[in-house]
Amino acid sequence: MSVELPETLILAEQMTQTLLDKKVKSYEIRDSEKLQRVGFMNTDLKDYDRLVGCKIKSITHRGNVIWIKMNKKMNLVLCPDYGARILYHKNEESLPKKHHLKIEFSDGTYFTIRQTGMGGIHSATDTEVKDLYVIKRDFSDTPSPIGEHDFTFERFSKLLDVKGQNIKAAIVGKAAVVVGLSNAAFQEIIYKARIHPKRNTATLSDDEKHDVFDAMKHILNARICSGGKNIWVDLYGDPGRHTPVMGPNMKDKNCPQCRAAIEKIAHGGGQVYFCPHCQRISNYHTK
Ligand SMILES: [Zn+2]
Repeated sequence: MSVELPETLILAEQMTQTLLDKKVKSYEIRDSEKLQRVGFMNTDLKDYDRLVGCKIKSITHRGNVIWIKMNKKMNLVLCPDYGARILYHKNEESLPKKHHLKIEFSDGTYFTIRQTGMGGIHSATDTEVKDLYVIKRDFSDTPSPIGEHDFTFERFSKLLDVKGQNIKAAIVGKAAVVVGLSNAAFQEIIYKARIHPKRNTATLSDDEKHDVFDAMKHILNARICSGGKNIWVDLYGDPGRHTPVMGPNMKDKNCPQCRAAIEKIAHGGGQVYFCPHCQRISNYHTK
């Protein structure tokens, strides 16, 4: 599953509690060819040598990106995007069989990262880090839907009006008006807001835009409060407790609101589950 903003935020907070001031003793990279080929790991693996001897000074996050700042002008940037297991280990006993990057700290603890889908693990100097695609993508002017006071309904509404695009493109991906969300959050948000997945944002009424804005806040906060999605594990290997209100887990089930059979369509480069009754495309024609 994709790692979206709520899970990224949880990971970054747990990493701040656990990894600060730890010093990198050594590292090991495995099975990196595929990620290197598509630019998700440094082309030259020697770049990771630069992390050895560095201490972790701070951890920040935005969108799907976790930015680990170290001393000696070094950074480790993670973007778990399409799925990753990012784990802390008190000792070598709990180390997983597979990893892309394993870091051993000088106190005998470990940190492992394995991308289960596409996503990045970059070693970068303070100068190089600003040019990383994922830093430019997520540490950008595009608002974050949670954790930022200036992300108001008025701003969200204006951004939707400027672009006038499909609701999925407005929430997910490169042209989105917010950072950090993918198909999973999209399905939950529009189900809760009772919006059909193929609506264009230019056709949304003010009330409907409000519903999307409120649903977005509600779903993302619910996921954070529940420790992330239930098919995801946190830094300590503990699973999240949030069951999505809509998504693949609703396959062959009925809508809890109206009992209609849940449907699935291919849309915007992924499968979208929705309720054909609660999320009618014609809702806005009849208003
Ligand atoms: Zn329904």
